[in-house]
Amino acid sequence: MTRVFDDDLGTGFGTRAIHAGQRPEPLAGAIMTPIYLTSTYVQEGLGQNKGYEYARGKNPTREALERNVAALEGGRHGFAFASGVACVDSIMKLFKSGDHVVCGENVYGGTFRLFDRLLQNLGLSFTYVDTGDSQRIADAVTKKTVAILVETPTNPLMRITDLAEAAQIAHRAGALLVVDNTFASPFFQRPLEFGADIVFHSTTKYLNGHSDMIGGIAVVKDDDLATKLQFIHNAAGAVQGPFDSWLALRGT
Ligand SMILES: *Cc1c(COP(=O)(O)O)cnc(C)c1O
Repeated sequence: MTRVFDDDLGTGFGTRAIHAGQRPEPLAGAIMTPIYLTSTYVQEGLGQNKGYEYARGKNPTREALERNVAALEGGRHGFAFASGVACVDSIMKLFKSGDHVVCGENVYGGTFRLFDRLLQNLGLSFTYVDTGDSQRIADAVTKKTVAILVETPTNPLMRITDLAEAAQIAHRAGALLVVDNTFASPFFQRPLEFGADIVFHSTTKYLNGHSDMIGGIAVVKDDDLATKLQFIHNAAGAVQGPFDSWLALRGT
């Protein structure tokens, strides 16, 4: 599981953006993280390796990006995905048929399409509300609610949600607060500081910043939640490739 380097968390935002998660490469000391184009890693013996077995589970370039963005968000663990919607899809795999999610009514169109056209068919149910009004979030919560998903500011209408209130409502219901932070970026807003459980991005947008890749990333603080996401990351396999990970890392 990709955990941030603790000493990166003691540094300022600019230093984290440039350095967090990146350590000189051990073979030659390359200061920039190389693009590790490999599917698998040599085993020194049966079950003996350097901590890397197969790149769906772990890739050093992807890990550098995951540690970097996790540090920027003030989180502990990062999970980089092949796209923003792949990231949301994998987050939703934490839940099961019969579970209910309260979702912002103005979330990104691709998020709504995923919920409305695919995940609803698998038995998840969704209620869409104006999350700018905390009372409407609270009113939509049922006994089956497992998550509140908000995007703030929203794409495209720039609607705003009070994250601290949304976190309180979620936690009172025993649900997770999941926040799409794509449009703010961790420079302007760090939802984990307001009580969010999962923050995610389409790295395709501001974090990459060059319009030359597609990606998503989820960040959490909690170790148990990280263990569950790590399992999904590897088991469902919607992981970010090393070249696109490197491009996103260059973006930050
Ligand atoms: C683009 C976007 C997504 C989806 O990300 P992709 O990388 O395009 O799959 C999700 N949320 C927001 C706010 C976006 O702008």
